[in-house]
Amino acid sequence: MTRDSRYDVLFEPVRIGPVTAKNRFYQVPHCNGMGFNLPQTHASMREAKAEGGWAVICTEECMIHPTSDYSPEPQARLWDENDVKYLALMVDAVHKHDALAGVQLAHNGVGAQNHFTRMPSLAPSDQAAVESVPSQGRGMNKKDIREFRRWHRDAALRAKRADADIVYVYAGHDTTLLMHFLSARRNQRTDDYGGSLENRVRLFREVLEETKDAVGDRCAVAVRLAVDELLGPQGISCDGEGREIIEMLAELPDLWDINVSNWENDSLSSRFSEEGFQEPYVSFVKKLTTKPVVGVGRFTSPDTMVSQIKRGVIDMIGAARPSIADPFLPKKIEEGRIEEIRECIGCNICASGQLTFSPMRCTQNPSVGEEWRRNWHAEHIPAKGSEDTVLVVGAGPAGLEAARALGQRGYAVTLAEAKKEFGGRIVKESRLPGLNAWARVRDWRIGRIQQMANVETYLDSKLTSDEILSFGFQRVILATGAHWRADGIGVTNWKPIPGSDQDHVFSPEYILDGGKLEGPVVVFDDDNFYIGAIIAEKLKENGNEVTFITTASEVSPWTSNTLEQHRIQTRILEMGINVITSHNISRIKRSEIDIRCGYTEKLNTVVAANVVMVTSRQPDNKLSIALADDKVDLNAAGISSVTSIGDCLNPSTIAVAVYDGHRIAREMDAAQENPDMPFRREKILIEKSI
Ligand code: ADP
Ligand code: SF4
Repeated sequence: MTRDSRYDVLFEPVRIGPVTAKNRFYQVPHCNGMGFNLPQTHASMREAKAEGGWAVICTEECMIHPTSDYSPEPQARLWDENDVKYLALMVDAVHKHDALAGVQLAHNGVGAQNHFTRMPSLAPSDQAAVESVPSQGRGMNKKDIREFRRWHRDAALRAKRADADIVYVYAGHDTTLLMHFLSARRNQRTDDYGGSLENRVRLFREVLEETKDAVGDRCAVAVRLAVDELLGPQGISCDGEGREIIEMLAELPDLWDINVSNWENDSLSSRFSEEGFQEPYVSFVKKLTTKPVVGVGRFTSPDTMVSQIKRGVIDMIGAARPSIADPFLPKKIEEGRIEEIRECIGCNICASGQLTFSPMRCTQNPSVGEEWRRNWHAEHIPAKGSEDTVLVVGAGPAGLEAARALGQRGYAVTLAEAKKEFGGRIVKESRLPGLNAWARVRDWRIGRIQQMANVETYLDSKLTSDEILSFGFQRVILATGAHWRADGIGVTNWKPIPGSDQDHVFSPEYILDGGKLEGPVVVFDDDNFYIGAIIAEKLKENGNEVTFITTASEVSPWTSNTLEQHRIQTRILEMGINVITSHNISRIKRSEIDIRCGYTEKLNTVVAANVVMVTSRQPDNKLSIALADDKVDLNAAGISSVTSIGDCLNPSTIAVAVYDGHRIAREMDAAQENPDMPFRREKILIEKSI
């Protein structure tokens, strides 16, 4: 296939100071939960994107000094010469594919708690920490500032020694020291580093000049700057100081990488933003500089990308999440394979890796994070290992991915789905307010399966165990999903809540299936991810008076890992939903419920015509139980394996179901050296003392 000429502009080279990017695709710095302690995992993850056609691949924040220690969150480090070899692994991997490697040097100032190094946090002036912790930042004196400049220069030289092509000066989020110096609210110095904007920019300018002086002969020096903090007059904004900073430094860096702060605003989920959402904040920058400008906005559509370039919004298509969901996005556009692009759904499960201190995962791309330890390639998969035929039962995320990946391997696959539509939980959840982009999980897989002559699909086909035994498939994969329970059992309640057996008590399934309720409704959330709040939102939109009762101390606490908690709680409150936190239900009566405070045990009563319980899910595992029965002779039926995957095995996120589907497809007929240790581990070398 050949590329559509409309997209030619995306493949023009871009000069960045002393280096040249081969096209306009730029993987901006992004966290990944791998950091300094998983350097090979990190290098292989970045290499996948270089192979996939991105012209520039950057690290995440790379800490320049032990006073910037982000533990337990894993980040890159260039604290001393010892760290150079770890970074060099990534740089070399990226260079193999003719891409440029960028290193995002960072000092987190009072944003770093230094839990590991136990060194004091630094700040422009004495102040509270960025997050609520019982430790403050020390205002830096002039000597500290000189030291900081030296650390940055030394780290830039280390990055150069690691053979990096682009070195960053970073003030992209309110967690960085240079941003803190720029910020009038954080920088309350009275010397020539504080006060006027010119003074607050001084350190930034000095570091920028010194970085250019140190490495600029061979490395491009990029700036990442948040031009708007979305704080109005409290912060830097695109029509205020954000603009003025760009005006002051316009031609100094070799490239402007522009975004909005904080991370929650920068990586807005699809529930709260559309593709290209940063344009109103960043579009002024190109008018003030001749240097290339990179911007982000969850770009997955080549037409939108071309429009951004042609309208002069940005010069390079910056991407973190779209490059995670599809490392081969540029190659697919280049080769005219647009329909093969696996579009990011904006769910932010990737962020949850970093925030739970574990390697990144992605709902759309099961191979991310597994490139090195399991040797999973994002696009290629080994050919089938036998002529066995495979039946996949259930076409939710797990079944669809299993059928797709097995189909790609060349197996003869039959996919049977009970419902009249493919997608399982995706069908229901993508109809919820703000979640329509999640349909891409189903649509991409169905699109791929439809191209495969060796995969047959059947809708409206609810299979029984007898039917499965009679068909003659050698392999059976059960992906039959799970359903929400209505009895209240979950994290907090181990027995059914008294009164939950009444007909005005519903599971979320009823609402997810489009059911409507009358009168005041209580939504009881003991699951504390996204479903409870979104059901409350839907009911409120339907006109119900809604009381949201949660066992947690805030609405949807786990969504802080997807950077959404604040917005979700804001939306719930702004919609006029009554929120009661830290309460459990002790009894459901006909028109009211008794609730109990999780701290004081004090009882209270809430009026409710109907109750929706969002507590936990039950695996739909009848088939697996029936087929595992001692009386069932699988051999006689010609079946050599029955495997359960996804929610019918253990209900979890969509990302886990997709991963499970992919894993089972990879493992079919694959030799496993040690089933107890199914992946490689990075080894720490113990150096002998002399
Ligand atoms: P997962 O996230 O694990 O993929 P889902 O609940 O999203 O789980 O999807 C499971 C799918 O399996 C649903 O679409 C459901 O209709 C289907 N299913 C459940 N039982 C059967 C069955 N006996 N025969 C065919 N399809 C089934
Ligand atoms: Fe996009 Fe979700 Fe994957 Fe993150 S986890 S890259 S938001 S699809």
